[in-house]
Order: sequence, then structure tokens, then C-alpha cells
Amino acid sequence: MECIFCNIVEKKVKADMVLEREKFIAFRDIHPKAPVHLLAVPRKHIDSVDHLQGEDAGLMGELLLFAKEVAREQNLEGYKLQINVGRKGGQVIDHIHLHILGGNAEEI
Ligand code: 5GP
Ligand code: ZN
Repeated sequence: MECIFCNIVEKKVKADMVLEREKFIAFRDIHPKAPVHLLAVPRKHIDSVDHLQGEDAGLMGELLLFAKEVAREQNLEGYKLQINVGRKGGQVIDHIHLHILGGNAEEI
């Protein structure tokens, strides 16, 4: 199955990258829903939170630390973190990702 985020990880598809680390990448959402809308994505393909295994616990903890690093690099004073799960939860890309939404509280 083609996965757009795997293709971005592998640089087969371009994205406006903001930070790249060994296990994660962060890039700008193509349809921003906040003044700053970034996606923090593990390089490892996992479909969704519903597909997490016990062995992924460490990775998901590291994802939060990565999001914190991204927010600091982007000088975000405050932000929201969101993970959509499943179609009914608003998930459209089946590669686990964390939305980082920055701006003023009333805009995010
Ligand atoms: P989801 O609804 O799955 O939680 O979020 C997927 C997000 O990925 C959406 O906000 C959508 O705008 C973004 N997105 C979808 N395709 C692309 C793409 O090819 N490039 C980038 N940068 N963002 C994308
Ligand atoms: Zn993928």
C-alpha cells in the first residue's frame, strides 16, 4: 500500500520540512488549520494509535519529546497537540502522526 507519509520520510515526495531526527520528521501541514500547523511523524510506519503495540511505548514517549523540540525550534510559546484516530476520529492519513498547532489560543 502506498503511504504518503512514508514517501515523505523517504524523500520521494516533497514536504516543507522543519526538523529531522533519527526516528522522526516534522513538516508543515499542506492545509494549515492554525497559524502554525506542523506534523510530527515517526519514520516507522504505524497505521494509527489503534495499531500501537507494547513495543511502541518508548517511541510514542519520544514523539512527545520530539514535538517539544520542534515547538522550541519554531519559537512556539504555546501549542496544542492532537492525534486523530480512525476515520470517525478524523484521521485521513494512515501513518501515525501528531498535529502541532501553534498560535494564540483563540486561533487554535
Ligand atoms: P489526519 O486527518 O490524518 O489526522 O491529518 C492528516 C493531515 O495531513 C491533514 O491535516 C492534511 O492536511 C495533511 N496532509 C495530507 N497530505 C499531505 C501532504 O502530501 N503533505 C503535507 N505536508 N500534508 C499533508
Ligand atoms: Zn507510512
